[in-house]
Amino acid sequence: MHEGTAATLRIDLGALVANYQMIARQVAPAAVAGVVKADAYGLGAVAVATALADAGCRHFFVAHLCEAAVLMPHLSQHAALYVLNGLSPGAEAQCAAIGAVPVLNSLAQIDGWAATARSLGRALPGVVQVDTGMSRLGLTPEELTILRDAPERLAGIDVQLIMSHLACADQPDNSFNREQRARFDRIAGQFPGIPRSLDNSGGALAPDVRHGDLVRAGIALYGGAPHGDPNPMQPVITLEAHIMQLRTVPAGAGVGYGLTHRCTAPAHIATLSVGYADGWPRHLSGRGCAYIAGVRAPIVGRVSMDSMAIDVTDVPDYLLYPGAPVELVGPHQTIDDVAMLADTISYEILTRLGHRYAREYCPVPVAIENRSVKI
Ligand SMILES: *Cc1c(COP(=O)(O)O)cnc(C)c1O
Repeated sequence: MHEGTAATLRIDLGALVANYQMIARQVAPAAVAGVVKADAYGLGAVAVATALADAGCRHFFVAHLCEAAVLMPHLSQHAALYVLNGLSPGAEAQCAAIGAVPVLNSLAQIDGWAATARSLGRALPGVVQVDTGMSRLGLTPEELTILRDAPERLAGIDVQLIMSHLACADQPDNSFNREQRARFDRIAGQFPGIPRSLDNSGGALAPDVRHGDLVRAGIALYGGAPHGDPNPMQPVITLEAHIMQLRTVPAGAGVGYGLTHRCTAPAHIATLSVGYADGWPRHLSGRGCAYIAGVRAPIVGRVSMDSMAIDVTDVPDYLLYPGAPVELVGPHQTIDDVAMLADTISYEILTRLGHRYAREYCPVPVAIENRSVKI
């Protein structure tokens, strides 16, 4: 236990690397990129990218240029760092200076990057993203037609990848996946010889599809289920809170703000050191749970900012004392379980993990390190 912190967040870098290697085997000969946006889904972009790089990963994606600026000094010169959200107008010089590869999401971004290449007098690397039906980012069909008739607009841009993004990859049976794959293949034909990237985690683990040249894995690396149950990935995090106080309350006692929980019988209540300011969803008020030595303890009343109450009446007394460990995420409750109870997805649970946790990184066992997976 780490005194003075909300909880202990353990991040198993060995499990992360095992997940990376599992995906790499699945999609070979495609390479696997690590998607490390949002501080590697809350787990620490530098630690995660370093572990992946040691395992042979050479491609990394962040969302924003500011994330690239932080991560770049930690990457080797052989690694490529792509910025998914592309180039905002005026950011071109900074992007070139950092050495990040922008994902060019519109003709205007292509023009801006090509102009920067001209003014610097050297070619600049870029990725061209096309919209294959998600209506989020990337060149529209109209823009693609314009680009086909005016390919010189890419002059000065060294196109590294043609990419798109699947809208329904978490549902491998959704027929829109096939539709998007067909559209992507058709469009990629307009860019002969350029490597292709379409799949995220869900796409990478979809059966019976070709994965192009590079898959972009995020949630599966971090132990989230790419397609719901069963989850083939190894869990990467555990979150252990501790008991701050214990009390025995009589039947009829109310618990927490608004007294939304009323004890129907005498109860043992434990107050934990984690609240919604730590990313523990307030939506779990009265519906989530924690585990103490495998015994389920329901969250009672509202989750507060810095604490919450659990009913520990069913937990053996010898496990209950100030400082006692309480599992919030671990062998009895996965990030997908927590997400389900909170009406959200594991991505949101991870990316909201708080900054008041003691973070412990379990290193990669030597046995699985350096079994490099090549591009
Ligand atoms: C976030 C993101 C990914 C990673 O998605 P996962 O489902 O976490 O694997 C891949 N590609 C793009 C464009 C993304 O925005």
